[in-house]
Amino acid sequence: MSALRATRQILQTIAGHGWRSHSSKPAQSAHIGKPGAGFSFELTDEQKEFQATARKFALEEIIPVAAQYDRTGEYPLPLIKRAWELGLINSHIPESCGGLGLGSFEACLITEELAYGCTGVQTAIEANSLGQMPVIIAGNEQQQKKYLGRMTEEPMMCAYCVTEPGAGSDVAGIKTKAEKKGDEYVINGQKMWITNGGKANWYFLLARTNPDPKAPASKAFTGFIVEADSPGIQVGRKEINMGQRCSDTRGIVFEDVRVPKENVLIAEGAGFKIAMGAFDKTRPPVAAGAVGLAKRALDEATKYALERKTFGKPIVEHQAVSFLLAEMAMKVELARMAYQRAAWEVDVGRKNTFYASIAKAFAGDIANQVATDAVQIFGGNGFNTEYPVEKLMRDAKIYQQTNRGVMQTVSGGKCKDT
Ligand SMILES: Cc1cc2nc3c(=O)[nH]c(=O)nc-3n(C[C@H](O)[C@H](O)[C@H](O)COP(=O)(O)OP(=O)(O)OC[C@H]3O[C@@H](n4cnc5c(N)ncnc54)[C@H](O)[C@@H]3O)c2cc1C
Repeated sequence: MSALRATRQILQTIAGHGWRSHSSKPAQSAHIGKPGAGFSFELTDEQKEFQATARKFALEEIIPVAAQYDRTGEYPLPLIKRAWELGLINSHIPESCGGLGLGSFEACLITEELAYGCTGVQTAIEANSLGQMPVIIAGNEQQQKKYLGRMTEEPMMCAYCVTEPGAGSDVAGIKTKAEKKGDEYVINGQKMWITNGGKANWYFLLARTNPDPKAPASKAFTGFIVEADSPGIQVGRKEINMGQRCSDTRGIVFEDVRVPKENVLIAEGAGFKIAMGAFDKTRPPVAAGAVGLAKRALDEATKYALERKTFGKPIVEHQAVSFLLAEMAMKVELARMAYQRAAWEVDVGRKNTFYASIAKAFAGDIANQVATDAVQIFGGNGFNTEYPVEKLMRDAKIYQQTNRGVMQTVSGGKCKDT
């Protein structure tokens, strides 16, 4: 009986508070960026504002059109432009380049809300952070002003160009090569699965500069910023994926593409560390996206369970359904704590690889479990495109496709798996 009481309490909390319960009291301590200020779950007023803006945008502007974008696979440009106007995109860009310079924690709060609306739209937005991050962590002042600065002047996309048809998790296996010729590098190779591949204004690209197969990964690769309209770049067709279908994923061929040496990040040979280092900051938002999806699945399933009746009562009153909802709620809360810890660690300047990998692997699994459970609670309707949960189940899968490699990172290995 006590287990059932606890379940009921959780359900009452979910149903009674709608979205989420947050204290309306002002923040008691601004904990972000202040190691030693103690442990607090309270958000600052500024964080609450970003969260509320993103939530309103998701509820009022993303959700009404998400199913249509899923059906057509059309790139959600109007939503991206609107997110740009609201300051919900490019949040990491430093203030010195005209950006907001937000921390990973704030970016994650925004991401969770956008993902609640649609992870296809959110991934298109998030891919900008992935492309920008190597420039943020390793770009010099000139590179940052030029390539990050232009993204604050108008809505613009960029992309992270690392995976190849033959090498995904195993970054050191990439074959794209860059040869120095005078003041330029000449790039030849093929990239695959590049989010925003067909929409980007510029790419972060990783290529091999040391042809010696025995050269250690930490010295063999170089990171470049490549203008997307450079001669020799051929962008492939938009891939038709299982989920997140409005996000633009493509293969890209580089044939004798000339890049000035000024576009090398840090120095020749530094690329592997830059490409991998970006994940410390980009894995927490990926996890936050998975949490947003899971929260949406929980809310949809809760609403349905309160309305749908079988055997003379709402299905929420059948214990098997209420236990399932309670477990879903527990998973969402714990996955949220995992990404918040990972984001907080990196914002206070600590190496967070361990926490970021845990958050991403855990939240990815949670998103899939919770979306699958939501489909279950909807019964036959869950299997139908007229209801929102089958999309959530399809959209969730990408979060797991790359998770085993992330788990390798948790146990000390080096895997990309964005
Ligand atoms: C929709 C989509 C968008 C993407 N966007 C981008 C992007 O913007 N930029 C970019 O560079 N890449 C992108 N990727 C590529 C993505 O990062 C790779 O798919 C991912 O790294 C996995 O690589 P792979 O597909 O080659 O799988 P593989 O590396 O071949 O892995 C196959 C399986 O083996 C597992 N595995 C691999 N290594 C290990 C290990 N050491 N231990 C245990 N299990 C392991 C994997 O988890 C996976 O289950 C995207 C992919 C997709 C599908």
